[in-house]
Amino acid sequence: MKPVVALVGRPNVGKSTLFNRMTKSRDAIVADYAGLTRDRHYGNARMGKREFIVIDTGGFEPTAETGIYVEMAKQTRQAVAEADVVVFVVDARDGLSAQDHDIANYLRKLGKPTVLVANKAEGMTEGTQLAEFYELGLGEVLPVSAAHGQGVRSLVEQALDALSLPELDEEEAEPDTSVIKLAVAGRPNVGKSTLINTWLGEERLIAFDLPGTTRDAISVPFERAGQKYELIDTAGLRRKGRVFEAIEKFSVVKTLQAIESANVVLLLLDATQGVTDQDAHIAGYILESGRAVVIAINKWDAVDEYERQQVQRQIESRLPFLKFAALHFISARKRQGLGPVWASIAQAHQSAMCKMSTPVLTRLLHEAVQFQAPKRAGMFRPKLRYAHQGGMNPPVVVVHGNSLEHVTDAYKRFLEGRLRKEFNLIGTPLRIEMKTSS
Ligand code: GDP
Ligand code: GDP
Repeated sequence: MKPVVALVGRPNVGKSTLFNRMTKSRDAIVADYAGLTRDRHYGNARMGKREFIVIDTGGFEPTAETGIYVEMAKQTRQAVAEADVVVFVVDARDGLSAQDHDIANYLRKLGKPTVLVANKAEGMTEGTQLAEFYELGLGEVLPVSAAHGQGVRSLVEQALDALSLPELDEEEAEPDTSVIKLAVAGRPNVGKSTLINTWLGEERLIAFDLPGTTRDAISVPFERAGQKYELIDTAGLRRKGRVFEAIEKFSVVKTLQAIESANVVLLLLDATQGVTDQDAHIAGYILESGRAVVIAINKWDAVDEYERQQVQRQIESRLPFLKFAALHFISARKRQGLGPVWASIAQAHQSAMCKMSTPVLTRLLHEAVQFQAPKRAGMFRPKLRYAHQGGMNPPVVVVHGNSLEHVTDAYKRFLEGRLRKEFNLIGTPLRIEMKTSS
């Protein structure tokens, strides 16, 4: 599981600037997907080799008693409770405030690993100006400038070192593709536990022991029609013996972690509610993670023909970035339409794990260019020379050549279409990277 870092501090100290800086490299990947509305509070971050989930808690007033601040404080407390490490941000230019003291007291009592950061420290001589922050009793103060990107990397290193986690292994072992890791994601009440319990109650489904999983592990291994699956415990669900139960508190962090641990995510929507903002955010996390996805609209039994058409239109307009995913209309309660979902899950997994050889990719590239060459940009005409596979789940195709920075998004979409057709890729995102030599 990826570690979780929470950014805490009073309003205006620079938390969202820091958040943006930490999540920017991941942003670039999904920047060109139309219709994606980002959740500005939760993000996947990557710095060097290290990956983590970062939460921006907004403003925090632990002593708030009325109004909107109470709700904010509640959410911040939940975020802090779910975090592995807290980054407490203060303003190096403003100096210490009473609110900073309140927050520090709260964090000290909590006893979580905490890193104290003085933001807006660009151009400051260390020492004298930062000395007062030692008063907070949280140890060393790290000067950073979120706006200028100074000190952010060592801040991340320090925060994650506090957890003594192993670094990501560059040469990852060949993934075990015989077991499909499946997560069911969706907001509360869409029918996740109903669906999972319907599944697990099926006779065709056989539980088996997966090496490395313990009795109270958060996943359930099972086999269906000769295919092995590992069902990952999802946000808002808890396993109780053989049944899953909905728990009270929905957790974005658990949703993110489940998505990241899965190969395929089944995004569950509620036909009676249509596509809500929260659905769109969850869909955004899935897209960002690069996982394969199948969409199921549940409670199909409870809507009439007019409502059905409305839901279909909403999916097209609100989730256009998941166009590559198969769509199913089901009723978990009435056990309708469930079979085809399994077929799509298997297909999405197969697509996500697709192996593409360099000769085949390169031949395809040349055929595509012959069919339609990339446009000249001023003096430059991009030259696409060869391609190789740079990753799985999602498949990444790396194109090598010259002046590739001038390849348009439209042309990339054209290439994507050819690749999807050739390799029969359904249900997985596909990333195309351009590598210009010289
Ligand atoms: P938040 O309310 O804690 O999320 O704070 P924001 O990220 O919205 O930043 C508040 C203000 O501080 C904005 O005007 C930012 O441009 C500014 N700011 C953020 N980081 C820095 C920094 O490193 N240096 C300076 N000088 N200003 C910054
Ligand atoms: P979760 O919070 O996502 O796990 O949702 P639950 O499985 O607890 O379901 C929430 C509510 O929706 C419950 O009252 C279920 O009985 C109901 N529900 C689940 N599936 C269906 C369905 O296919 N049709 C209808 N009409 N109701 C359903």
